[in-house]
Amino acid sequence: MRHANLLHAAPAPPVIQPWDYVAMRRNAAGLSVEQLATALGGKVYERHLRAIETPGLRFQQIAALDQAMPFSATVYRQLADLPPLQHPRLCQRCGWDAHTDQPDGCGGLITWSRTDDAICTRCEQVTSQ
Ligand SMILES: [Zn+2]
Repeated sequence: MRHANLLHAAPAPPVIQPWDYVAMRRNAAGLSVEQLATALGGKVYERHLRAIETPGLRFQQIAALDQAMPFSATVYRQLADLPPLQHPRLCQRCGWDAHTDQPDGCGGLITWSRTDDAICTRCEQVTSQ
């Protein structure tokens, strides 16, 4: 009887849930909930932001977060509506996706790390500092 070689089986990446995605993007932008609420238009947004970061809650409509930080409403919808196997590929640390153009801090745009395909070049720089 042969056993599957588990060492060579690629582990499934952890599932990023929609509430994780919002929090990851907010943290990557260096914003607190209060700061993001202010950027969106005021304190009234704080409750909404805490709700969309609450594990287990999925929303049909969310505030236009992309006006205040790099964020994709399309990615949010995919994470909320699709089974994990159909989720878009995201940076496991900051939630960046390949359709969101974002400066990498070195004069270019963020892309996938060449050394760790689970993360983006921006997170790679943070790691190596
Ligand atoms: Zn990243």
